[in-house]
Amino acid sequence: MQYRPFGSTDFKVSALGLGTMRLPLSRFIPQKVNVQQSIRMMRHAIDKGINYFDTAWPYHLRQSERIVGKALQDGYREKVHLTTKLPMFLISRESEFDFYLNSSLKALQTDHVDTYLFHALSKNTFERLKKLKLLDKMKRARDQGKIKYIGFSFHDTLPVFREIVDHFDWDVVQIQFNYMDTALQAGQEGLEYAASKNMAIVIMEPLKGGQLANPPKEALDVMAASGIERTPVDWALQYLWDRPEVSCVISGMGNMTMINENCASADKSGIESLSEKEKIVIDELVDIYRKNILVPCTDCKYCMPCPFGVNIPLHFATLNHQTIERRFYYKFFVRRSYNALVRNKKRLNRSKTNGHASLCTECGVCIPKCPQGINIPHELKKTLEILDKRKNIKDVFEV
Ligand code: SF4
Ligand code: SF4
Repeated sequence: MQYRPFGSTDFKVSALGLGTMRLPLSRFIPQKVNVQQSIRMMRHAIDKGINYFDTAWPYHLRQSERIVGKALQDGYREKVHLTTKLPMFLISRESEFDFYLNSSLKALQTDHVDTYLFHALSKNTFERLKKLKLLDKMKRARDQGKIKYIGFSFHDTLPVFREIVDHFDWDVVQIQFNYMDTALQAGQEGLEYAASKNMAIVIMEPLKGGQLANPPKEALDVMAASGIERTPVDWALQYLWDRPEVSCVISGMGNMTMINENCASADKSGIESLSEKEKIVIDELVDIYRKNILVPCTDCKYCMPCPFGVNIPLHFATLNHQTIERRFYYKFFVRRSYNALVRNKKRLNRSKTNGHASLCTECGVCIPKCPQGINIPHELKKTLEILDKRKNIKDVFEV
C-alpha cells in the first residue's frame, strides 16, 4: 500500500480508502447488509494496509456505522482513521448536533472519530450550518476529544464550494472527482483551490458510480490498442493518484475481489507517475465518453464571462448529467443545484457570472470563443427546453 500526506496533519493516509455505503447485501432480505461478510471484508481491507474508513449516519439505513463498529473490535479500531458524517439534511436545531454525534459514536463503539464531516454541504445546508452555529459545536466536540479533524463533503457548484472553503480553517474535504467529472461540482478548480489551503482532499465517486468500470466497446478498444495492460478501473484510479492534490481515493468496495484488485492498483500508484502516453489514452477515453453527451462542453470557461451574466457551462453540465448519469441519487443532486439557480435567479443574476440562460440575448459574443465549436445560444435554448419545459430529449436533440 502507498501512503500519502493528509493535508496539514501528521497522519499518512493509505492511497485507497474504504467507503461503506455499498456493503454486501443479504441474498434473502432486501436492504439488509450481510454482517459477517462485511466484517470479514473490512478486516481484510485493513490487513491489506487500508487505514481510512468512511461511513455516514444514514448509509445502509443506519446499518453501516453499526457494522463498521463491529468490524473495528478486536484491536482493529486503532489501525484506522475513522470518518463519519453529520446528517445535514436532518438537522434543524443546534442541540441535535450532540444527538447525532453521540449516536454515531455509540454505533461505531468508539469514544472518538478521527474526522467528522458535515454531510453533503450545499448552499442551503451551509446557510443552516451558519444559522445554527454548528461550527461552534464541532469545535467544542474537538476540545472534548470526540473528534480530531473537521471537514465537509460537498455537492453543489464551484462558487458555493469556494465560499465554504473560505469560511473556516477546515482540515478535510470530500469531493466527487474522476476523469469525467473534472468540471462538475467543485471540479478540478475546486480541487486545486482546496489544496492551496492545505486541506486533506478525499475523493468520492472515482468510478462515476461504476460507469468508468464498464466502458463502451470503443473505449475498451482504445485501452487495448495502447499496449498498456490495465483494467478500466485501474485507469480511472491511477488518473486520480497521479494528482498531488489527492490524499485518499475512497472506493465503495463490496467484495474481496474488489479489495484485492484495488489494493493492487494502489500498490503501484504514485504522484505524477502517469506517462505522457498514458495521459493521452485517458484523454481519448474522455473523448469517447463525451460522445454520449448531448452538448460537448468541457467546462473550459473560455466563453465566460458572458456580457449578460449567463453561467453557460453550468447549464450544459446539468443537461449532460441528466443523460449520462443513471443513478437517481446523483441526478437528484445535479438537478437540485440547477433548481437553486432557477429559484435564486434574481440574486444570482446580479452576480453577473452565475445567471440563468433566460438572460441570453443571443448576442453571439461567446460563439467564436468556444474551442468545441458549440453554437452556445442555440444549444442553451435547447437545454432550457429539456431542463425548464421538461421536453423529451429525443424531441429536442438528435439521439
Ligand atoms: S450569446 Fe448568450 S450566452 Fe453567449 S455571450 Fe451572448 S448573451 Fe451570453
Ligand atoms: S467555451 Fe465551450 S466548451 Fe468551454 S465552457 Fe464555454 S461552452 Fe463549454
